[in-house]
Amino acid sequence: MKKGALTLTNYRFRIRKKRTYVIMITVGAAVSTDLWANQKKHYVMQWIQDARAMFNHKCAECHEGDMFPTGAFSFNKPFDMHERCPKCNANYYPEPGFYYGAMFMSYIFSAFIILGFVMVLHWILKLSLMASFGWLMIVVAVFFVWWFRFARAFWLNLIVGFKPEKKAIAKAK
Ligand SMILES: [Zn+2]
Repeated sequence: MKKGALTLTNYRFRIRKKRTYVIMITVGAAVSTDLWANQKKHYVMQWIQDARAMFNHKCAECHEGDMFPTGAFSFNKPFDMHERCPKCNANYYPEPGFYYGAMFMSYIFSAFIILGFVMVLHWILKLSLMASFGWLMIVVAVFFVWWFRFARAFWLNLIVGFKPEKKAIAKAK
């Protein structure tokens, strides 16, 4: 007899297997919903705070100190970065070559954003390819420094966690 044939034994086995999956999924869902309900507010708030620090190029530990001495759109000393947080003294260079990873994240994200940007302009707004790329050049030129800094802030905030006690120190300054 073939192995997968629908005999009574096979049929029972299939049902048992299905029941095991159902139990596993139900228990898993119940446990994770409970965890989520308990921690939801904390996680969401933390995530919003982290995101705000990334977009504003702020220190990962205190979310108060600036990572860069000049404005992103001033184009003045675009790649100069503080070595330590001016507010809480957190080290912005935890190890040599720390921002190597930021480069890869920046590369991956910018590739998708640029692709999406040109697709929207060319396919949805019906601009010519040349015009789409022209607009892309302008947007990239304007956001170049901001994006470089965002990648670094993103990486620092991703690796280094927020420390509430440091925020208190930074706020007192
Ligand atoms: Zn700081």
